[in-house]
Amino acid sequence: MAKPTQPERSRSLQRWRAERDRIGRGERVLPGLWRLRLPLPWPGVPHCNAYAIAAGDGFVLVDTGASEPGSMGHLERALEQVGLRVEDARLIVCTHAHADHCGQAAIVAERAGCEVWMHPRADHLFKQAEDPEAVLSRRLEIARQSGVPAAPLERWVQARRGQGPLVSFPLEIARELVPGVEVETDLGTFSVIETPGHAPSHVCLHQPDRRLLMSGDHLLGRVSLYFDVGWSDDPVGEFLQSLERVDALDARLALSGHGRPFTDVRGHVEANQALVAGHLEKLRALLAGETLSAFELAPRLFGEAFAAATGAWLFTETMAFLKHLERRGEARRVAGEADGEAWTAA
Ligand SMILES: [Zn+2]
Ligand SMILES: [Zn+2]
Repeated sequence: MAKPTQPERSRSLQRWRAERDRIGRGERVLPGLWRLRLPLPWPGVPHCNAYAIAAGDGFVLVDTGASEPGSMGHLERALEQVGLRVEDARLIVCTHAHADHCGQAAIVAERAGCEVWMHPRADHLFKQAEDPEAVLSRRLEIARQSGVPAAPLERWVQARRGQGPLVSFPLEIARELVPGVEVETDLGTFSVIETPGHAPSHVCLHQPDRRLLMSGDHLLGRVSLYFDVGWSDDPVGEFLQSLERVDALDARLALSGHGRPFTDVRGHVEANQALVAGHLEKLRALLAGETLSAFELAPRLFGEAFAAATGAWLFTETMAFLKHLERRGEARRVAGEADGEAWTAA
């Protein structure tokens, strides 16, 4: 048999890594706290993290991964690797109502006989579940008004329809995860910090003695913004306030919804603030003396990053920044082409 060549070897290594990354994996972060890395069906976001925190004879599960064929097997496998079982979950807390964080909550709750706690502003999830077509057509209407041409919009709709909800229902919130609610674990009591912005339902969990922060998608190891638009007036403004709230906690270790745990929490807060400030600055400059639709603004704001795969996400982000400037009295909407809407400096 011929010896594999260098490129063949590196290709098979790549295949092996991709294969390994498509399955759930568990690892200990601290004694009594485990990271459960679960695969996701999204091209740009290959994994999410759930966490198990020891609590009495079982554990508290923070986030759950998305629900799709095979997903429960990934969670089981990740738990098994650290010596835990789904049935031993004593409580499920979701940092926010996105599919990758609460998708399997209903199933785990059913199997383990435990409760699910989540923030009450989760209507962005429940409206989506009750009437996905209505939510989709509302988003389409906003996109059309903002100057998105028919062809890319149609592609986005097809991809969206093909995906399914990735959340198992009925999902009952037994207790609202709001400030004052405490989550008891063997590592101490975690308190609830409201951190809307990424999603209106977002909370972080904070353990002050150990200076631990379960940061969900509010703070990620890799600085990356996402705003759920359409459920609150100013998600960017909310996000900036949430950053300050979290900064004041002076946490030492952040366990985020994607990627590895990280220690420089303040550095990550500052990097997010700088990223938002940079985008707003650029948007102000673009709007000075020009009238442009959100769809025209998005590629100018994001440059080459505004590609097919990330277009919908970055368009939404552009809308969020525009709404923020509008709130601050720095931008206003005017009539655009073909019944559309355009933006200019106020
Ligand atoms: Zn999220
Ligand atoms: Zn996420």
